[in-house]
Amino acid sequence: MHMQRVSVTGAGGFVGHHLLKRLVAEGCWVRGVDLKPPEYEPSPAHEFELLDLRRWENCARATRGVEEVYNLAANMGGIGFIESHKAEVMHDNVLINVHMLEGARLNGVKRYLYTSSACVYPGYRQNSADVTPLKEEDAYPADAEDGYGWEKLFSERQCRHYYEDYGLETRVVRFHNIYGPLGTYDGGREKSPAAICRKVALAEDGGEIEVWGDGKQTRSYCYIDDCVEGIHRLMRSDYREPLNLGSDRLVTIDELVDIVATVARKSIRRRYDVTKPQGVRGRNSDNSRLRKALGWEPSTSLEKGLARTYQWIHSRLEASGRLRKELAVAS
Ligand code: NAD
Repeated sequence: MHMQRVSVTGAGGFVGHHLLKRLVAEGCWVRGVDLKPPEYEPSPAHEFELLDLRRWENCARATRGVEEVYNLAANMGGIGFIESHKAEVMHDNVLINVHMLEGARLNGVKRYLYTSSACVYPGYRQNSADVTPLKEEDAYPADAEDGYGWEKLFSERQCRHYYEDYGLETRVVRFHNIYGPLGTYDGGREKSPAAICRKVALAEDGGEIEVWGDGKQTRSYCYIDDCVEGIHRLMRSDYREPLNLGSDRLVTIDELVDIVATVARKSIRRRYDVTKPQGVRGRNSDNSRLRKALGWEPSTSLEKGLARTYQWIHSRLEASGRLRKELAVAS
């Protein structure tokens, strides 16, 4: 039987590691590539190469001898990180994606998936917490998230041109806030669900946590298993345009805290810090095209997904001794 050979970049990161595990479980031969191995468990990759993909020769190496490439490598983080590292983020990610596409072309790769983001959507459509869900065509006229979002928009277009000019089958997915176990939860690059799970785990019952913004800003959140399923379905489909991959359940940050507090069985007070970066006021995914193109959409409830995420972060903090230490200081 033919064993499909694939390369996954960003395989030391959150989504890349989950995706790689799924591809191995399905019987593919998988090369993982990243600057670092996965932080929380070993990679089951058949081959794992530590390569800096800002360099052309490393992209040529990462794409050799495979039929498909899933390019997830990116210098990224939560809103605090991307708002304060715009030049670095654009510099690194433009180089990674330009070189990866060219490497894939020269090495005769058949299919190439690029992970874009809801950050490509224009600021002027996201000024209200009661936001109209974003359709794929809303990305233009462009006014993407400065830095990170503009690079995503540029690389989306480069994928389209590689299909038009060279026939490379490219797939482009726009993630909307992916979360789940094995994601960064500390250190400044974590996203809101992981940050809130950590803060609630470290607070005592009746205690207080800091929330960035006034708590009324809105987002939708997609659980990692749904994300991996969506990537898999898109790669197997014949759909070549950018596609949203997210949940269309809109919640406020306050509601997110409520769900995590319920999971933790704690009563939690909030201290709002409106000086911290908050990103757009509201953002939600319109899944009409996703349903049509893939005949599917994410289905894991936020309650279920956050329960799994909270349990994982709680167990990490417990194992590191941090939980005991911080709760002892608080009491
Ligand atoms: P992540 O930060 O966990 O993983 C990205 C990985 O890329 C990291 O392991 C990092 O070491 C690696 N990387 C960075 N620079 C590199 C380089 N020069 N060479 C090689 N590897 C390098 O992020 P993630 O959440 O797994 O995101 C995966 C992809 O999905 C990224 O392209 C990201 O922009 C996109 N995305 C993610 C979300 C989300 O909510 N997680 C939302 C929108 C888009």
